[in-house]
Amino acid sequence: MIEKIKVLEKFIPALEPDEGEREKMARAILKYSEEFLRNIYDLPAYRVSDTKGIGLYDSPIQDDPVGINELLELLKNNVDSPGLNPASRGHLGYIPGGGIYHAALGDYLAAVTNRYAGVFFASPGAVRMENMLLDWMAAIIGYPRTCGGNLTSGGSLANLIGFVTARDAFDLKGKDLEKSVIYLSTQAHHSIDKAIRIAGLRECIVRYIPLGEGYRMKPSELDISIITDRKSGLNPWLIIASAGTTDVGAVDPLSEIGAIAQKHRLWFHLDAAYGGFFVLCDSGKKALKGMDTSDSVVMDPHKGLFLPYGSGAVLVKDAKKLLASHHYEATYMQDALSSTDELSPADLSPELSKHFKGLRLWLPLKLVGVKPFRAMLEEKILLARYFYEKVQTINRIEVGPTPELSVVTFRYVPESGDANDFNRRLVNEIQRDGRVFLSSTVLDGRFTLRLAVLCFRTHLDTVGQTLEILREKIAQVKDG
Ligand SMILES: *Cc1c(COP(=O)(O)O)cnc(C)c1O
Repeated sequence: MIEKIKVLEKFIPALEPDEGEREKMARAILKYSEEFLRNIYDLPAYRVSDTKGIGLYDSPIQDDPVGINELLELLKNNVDSPGLNPASRGHLGYIPGGGIYHAALGDYLAAVTNRYAGVFFASPGAVRMENMLLDWMAAIIGYPRTCGGNLTSGGSLANLIGFVTARDAFDLKGKDLEKSVIYLSTQAHHSIDKAIRIAGLRECIVRYIPLGEGYRMKPSELDISIITDRKSGLNPWLIIASAGTTDVGAVDPLSEIGAIAQKHRLWFHLDAAYGGFFVLCDSGKKALKGMDTSDSVVMDPHKGLFLPYGSGAVLVKDAKKLLASHHYEATYMQDALSSTDELSPADLSPELSKHFKGLRLWLPLKLVGVKPFRAMLEEKILLARYFYEKVQTINRIEVGPTPELSVVTFRYVPESGDANDFNRRLVNEIQRDGRVFLSSTVLDGRFTLRLAVLCFRTHLDTVGQTLEILREKIAQVKDG
């Protein structure tokens, strides 16, 4: 047996590289990432590719090793070239991503030390760090100290956690669902519809509240709908609003919705995945007034705090309710809130073992302070307003609502021919060009282009360049 063990031991260095090996690998990786960063302001935002990364399959997972340089080459050609480049300053589509460097270093440390941030007992410091970040988020939106939260992989999971908590807080059972009513707007993000299904709430009645000016939910209609439903014996229980819709960046009238939720004793869930962190800057704070009237809220650090993908957050005003839905030890719950222990993430989410997400957020916030984040968020709002003004100087451009946050919608109205078709071709041409990436949507049946400013690398020069590209591509599509 010992002999057999000795034979197996020759594989130890493969999984435990020595200092020299580590340095070699780290140097190659650093060289790669430095080259990426050195060129990032010139790399295309979108790259059309015929092969779409298929070259990866030429190097299947197998028993024998492959050197780091060959792997980085595979990565470069197949992963980091084709398609959308979310780290690019020219990413102005959907809701742009980020990828601040400090966060990558935080991830690196979290992976090397591999602290287990699920349970306070296992890693009290890591859990305190996550809870401290959630407390900070609670403070900036005006939630009380009795709230609880969780750092998730993104807004989708955060929305799901919010709905599950609300469902259990209302003690909804299978037999109740057919009569239970959820209120939202047609502008709600598709992850909401998905989370409703996953949370087992598919049988609920879903009412789409008509939109008012600027694609915002009409509170008066919401109120009437709830009253009518109650009168007819239904069970209104959940209102879902958005603070920054993905499509147009609209902020629903939060204070009014909050007051209606309170009056009728409904749960108010706020999806602020995109817009939530704008609360850090003056213009955003004004636009987001009333966030604190919600019962649960979702915010994505991988959007508004420029983190790499994999960072969402949910906050629930009454931590006990979040805990009631997600704890995994019945006896643990009764004294968890009265004890001196911090709440454990594993009791506040569906997950048990997971990446230590606090470090990728704590490190940048501490290293540079909150001030630069405030400034960059204010800048994004101003850049959107600037674009909104300037794009109207292009002949035959029609704009959507004045941007509340950092999304602008617009379309070109050709003198003749189908406008939808023209704009579809226009966005295709812009994407094929690739210097910047814009996406499109359909508003009131009209094919519409959208510009979303949120990448931390997007500044005045990129917005100016986008206007130029737009003029150029309009002329090109017009010519045929
Ligand atoms: C991005 C977004 C989501 C989904 O969040 P993910 O982090 O992509 O899972 C939900 N709602 C809104 C408004 C969003 O912008």
